[in-house]
Amino acid sequence: MKPGGKSDPERVINLHVKVKALVVQLTTMNMQQGLKYDPEFLGAVYNCLPVKFQDKWLDLNKSSFDTKWNAMISLLDTVYDQATEQLILLDTMGKVDHKKKDVVDVHTVHVQSDRNKENADKDVIELRKKKEKHKRVKEEIGPCPICKLEHAFVRRDKLTWPCDRFFTCKKFKEISVQERDRLLEMVNGCIRCTSWRHNKASC
Ligand SMILES: [Zn+2]
Ligand SMILES: [Zn+2]
Repeated sequence: MKPGGKSDPERVINLHVKVKALVVQLTTMNMQQGLKYDPEFLGAVYNCLPVKFQDKWLDLNKSSFDTKWNAMISLLDTVYDQATEQLILLDTMGKVDHKKKDVVDVHTVHVQSDRNKENADKDVIELRKKKEKHKRVKEEIGPCPICKLEHAFVRRDKLTWPCDRFFTCKKFKEISVQERDRLLEMVNGCIRCTSWRHNKASC
């Protein structure tokens, strides 16, 4: 999710449009419950917020909301209203001062919002694909042979992804190096990357 925009208010408005479009899309696909329990999604929205609004989120008392996601939606609504007002003020000032070049044109923002809706559609498809792949990989990898829990790591794109490496296992970290080697041998795992699904030769 990368909301465009030259200024903070533009970014906030674009973000608001994208998030709302995404919620609508997910609701039609009956996936809206996922939003409430998916910290990744919350994190993605947070990362798109301009810094001063990130601070607002941190200061916000979330205990009065059902879920953090609802708190985020409420914050987005508030900052959206503020951003719209800010844009209108900037626009009025722009009419007075014609020399000012980076005046934000409210009309342009609307055009951009439409474009962002299309982008939001793409984001939904991407997110859906990722979720499906996530599910597939998770089933393939299965639980950790040592602790029987499912392990994960954070990918470069900030997504939490299923992991088949023992180094993500708390129990594995607790045992001695000799025990680790013996264990890897037992499951025919990889001494290089600690995967339990392939050996060193195929790493
Ligand atoms: Zn484990
Ligand atoms: Zn390996």
